[in-house]
Amino acid sequence: MTPTNHRARWIMTEPGQWLENGWVTIRDHRIHEVGRSSGSTRAGHRIMDHGDGVLMPALVNAHTHVALSDSARSHAAKGFVPWVQALMSERNRQGPESTTRTVRDGVMTLKNTGTGLVGEFGPHIPVAKAFESAGLHATLWLECLGNDRDLPPLPENLETVRHAYAGHAPHTTSPALLKRVQAADHLLGRRFCLHLAESREEATFLQTGRGAWADFMTHMDIDFSTWGCFGKRPVQMAIERGLLDQNTLAVHLLQINTSEMAEFAQTGAQVCLCPRSNRRLHRQLPDIRGFLKAGIRPALGTDSLASVSTLSLFDEMRFIVEHYPGLDPDVILEFGTVNGAAALGYPDLGSLQPGNRSNMIYVDLEAMNPKQAAEALVSTENLQIHPID
Ligand SMILES: [Zn+2]
Repeated sequence: MTPTNHRARWIMTEPGQWLENGWVTIRDHRIHEVGRSSGSTRAGHRIMDHGDGVLMPALVNAHTHVALSDSARSHAAKGFVPWVQALMSERNRQGPESTTRTVRDGVMTLKNTGTGLVGEFGPHIPVAKAFESAGLHATLWLECLGNDRDLPPLPENLETVRHAYAGHAPHTTSPALLKRVQAADHLLGRRFCLHLAESREEATFLQTGRGAWADFMTHMDIDFSTWGCFGKRPVQMAIERGLLDQNTLAVHLLQINTSEMAEFAQTGAQVCLCPRSNRRLHRQLPDIRGFLKAGIRPALGTDSLASVSTLSLFDEMRFIVEHYPGLDPDVILEFGTVNGAAALGYPDLGSLQPGNRSNMIYVDLEAMNPKQAAEALVSTENLQIHPID
């Protein structure tokens, strides 16, 4: 296949690493070379000059549920348990056609807003096909919850889609099932993912075995009497049960204090934060500065349309700029690129290094220097984004 030289005024190979008037040579869907403009004249190479904006890695949305539509979102203001109830009744109502449409729209939105790699919790077959036909890379986690049982088989992986198991969360999933899921992911060589320490309801349930969540589980006829995981805060429980290690990706971590953060960091587990979703559902924001201080490099996820208004990771980064003033734009860009790829276990995505898979976007903006370009990327509304296939 003829190599293609992609040229732009600004190339961000990864946050903080910039080339002016640079080019990226793609050969057989891999990055062959990255350099300055003289390379763009090489004989036999196809030239694509994108313009004066930024050529950069496609973003990583490390936590989504693309099959969930926006219909439960208005219930978020009533509290966590009423929102879960609205979500469940929507799931029961939603027919296969409407699920397929929601999934297809969600996946196209992810692509058109600059995402190239996704960590997705969802129904496997329609979602996997939608990701593959959009050319998006994804890990699809099959959510397991309730009491311990054998795990269903996973579908075959597709070219851009890997399948894995997820434990839903410690307040919905027995410790025995969480351990079973974790062991299965280890065997598969996949990340073990779970929602952890998201809501106050979860924290109260794990600490006391009582409260609004316990009442809801009893109402739903879910027997948690044998779970034996009570008396600890969520992160403490997860550490004691051996649920956190370098292969684990924990999503949310809102209910975590400073000493738990230090202990969490020692496990080497990965973190994905979803600030917009957290604010809407729990009126609370994750302690991003605390994570950074503890040496944790968080990834970012939008979560689903049931709790956020868009699936755009650029919108998520812009929200961080607005709600965490003073945070360095390069650090925010790391959340959405290199940290996300590391969190999901894709060493050859998230940056434009030679040997990496080609997974780039071009963002049309004007900047006089890299600092201006980085600021514009994280703070401009309605950026003109062009995925590069
Ligand atoms: Zn989620």
